[in-house]
Amino acid sequence: MKNHLRQWKQIQSAILEQRVPQSMLLVGSLPCALTDFVVQLAPLFFCKQQTHEPCSDCIDCRMLAERIHPEVKWLKPEKNNASIAIDSIRELINSIDITPQRSSYRLIIIEAADRMSTASANALLKSLEEPAKHNIFILIAQQLSTVLPTVLSRCQVIPFSLPEEPYSNNLLLLGEQYPIGSEQSLIVQQAEPILNGLIALLEKREHPCILALKWKQFSLEAVLWFFYLVYSQLQLMHINKEVTLGPATSQLVRLRALLNPILIFKQIDKINFFLKKIHQNINSTLALEDLLFAVMPDEEFRF
Ligand SMILES: [Zn+2]
Repeated sequence: MKNHLRQWKQIQSAILEQRVPQSMLLVGSLPCALTDFVVQLAPLFFCKQQTHEPCSDCIDCRMLAERIHPEVKWLKPEKNNASIAIDSIRELINSIDITPQRSSYRLIIIEAADRMSTASANALLKSLEEPAKHNIFILIAQQLSTVLPTVLSRCQVIPFSLPEEPYSNNLLLLGEQYPIGSEQSLIVQQAEPILNGLIALLEKREHPCILALKWKQFSLEAVLWFFYLVYSQLQLMHINKEVTLGPATSQLVRLRALLNPILIFKQIDKINFFLKKIHQNINSTLALEDLLFAVMPDEEFRF
């Protein structure tokens, strides 16, 4: 567990000393990093080897890795930006009454706790107030301010700030903060070919529509996230004049020479515009083409 070592140790020693808080609220701006943290943390509660670190080999560790452990209840909203349905909370409450069969703990993980409706939170509240000894609640939230105070008061808050070091070099390293296989992690792995495409466009060797078509293998949200990082990174490189280490270094250096800061700010504005509209069924091909035409060096390709 190289990231969030402090939080990891805090919870680990609480488990070893059998004083685990019954409700924890993990708060951090990157929910994916938090869920990843919880995935890696869960074996501490269940590993049969009872060693300092989870063994990854016992039946419990393996069931956890396959996400089929019977004593882990994981609730997440059905869609991005939605909140957890009250019916799911009610179903959960009914299912956690009985004593766990396999181990002394049951983990109940609830994502997007800061977007829970008042009704859902109230339904959950009784379980948080009088938790059965074996039930450990782990709530995940992006911001503290929108967690209902009644819920908040029942939880031990564990804050997660962004780790400082990795990204001081290259913002694309943020991809490593996301779970393996997530869209963010996958798109950062493709950083070099994607940026080579952008370079080809700027050097008039590629057409915006062809490039937009290639990028359609990723969701629009992932592409916008990725380019937000790329353009922010390029602005940093314009200011610091430093050559950074990390993914796609040579492509970034080339792009810094090809794109001026004013154009980059305009791209960031466009990305923000599309991000705001992302849940309104925007046409992703048109959005990508719009972004790409806007960086074209001259009118040659325009219709
Ligand atoms: Zn194990």
